[in-house]
Amino acid sequence: MGFVVAALLGACVGSFLSLAAWRLPRGESLMGPASHCPACGRTLTWRENLPLLGWLWLRGRCRACGAPIPLRDWLVEGLTAGLWLAVALLTTPAASGLAAVLRLLAGLVFTSGLLLLLLLDLDGFWLPEPLCRWGVITGLATTALLAVAAGMGPVTPLVHHSLAAALALVGFDLARVLGTWWLGVPALGGGDGKLAAVLGAWLGGRGLLLALALAVLGGGLFGLLARLSGHLQPRQPFPFGPFLATAGVLVWLTPQTLQRQLLTLLLPWLNAVGLALGR
Ligand SMILES: [Zn+2]
Repeated sequence: MGFVVAALLGACVGSFLSLAAWRLPRGESLMGPASHCPACGRTLTWRENLPLLGWLWLRGRCRACGAPIPLRDWLVEGLTAGLWLAVALLTTPAASGLAAVLRLLAGLVFTSGLLLLLLLDLDGFWLPEPLCRWGVITGLATTALLAVAAGMGPVTPLVHHSLAAALALVGFDLARVLGTWWLGVPALGGGDGKLAAVLGAWLGGRGLLLALALAVLGGGLFGLLARLSGHLQPRQPFPFGPFLATAGVLVWLTPQTLQRQLLTLLLPWLNAVGLALGR
């Protein structure tokens, strides 16, 4: 029963994330007006606003003007429902009591926030600085809270995670400057380092390294395939944020022991990618 509730709440949050990803770049308020058709402005009824069901109810078209309602909205609702279910399933058996509740809430906030950043970067190469700053602050606060709830001192994990966030920020800026100088075109967006800092604050050093490894491998593979298939021109940029965000979610859902094993498995591959780039 609890898992059904998690999935349903997730679908509602997904609906909000879609709305936020549409409104934030346009400078519109998240509080109001109520959801409306972007083509004709008609306000949606409560039934049409139901997550997942509303889109099916309308068969993906506005009833007044017939303008298509993006399938992506529906997919984001489904994806968030799945994400909340996964976080609930993977958090619950691990621990009980206050620590488990905190970890569950933290997981829901972290993965939902990452999904919003993914959508924003996908749409407009935009990782808003205030959102990333809040991501770092909440990540460090969560780290301290989780440590206290687990009966440990908060200082050591707090220092580790802060250091990971700071190094991510500096490292990405350095990589961006060097990469741009070497390639002659902008390498990495300015927001990627801020998103990496968010990952560092939430995941700590090892989690950050694993997320970076996954993101670099995922992004590299995507770039290669997209170029070979002609979907991307040579040197045409594509957003790296979605790979970072996806990797962050995957690492959060991976148990600590498995994270260590995965990292030792992936590091030789990263070396190979580095060598290939160096040629
Ligand atoms: Zn309409």
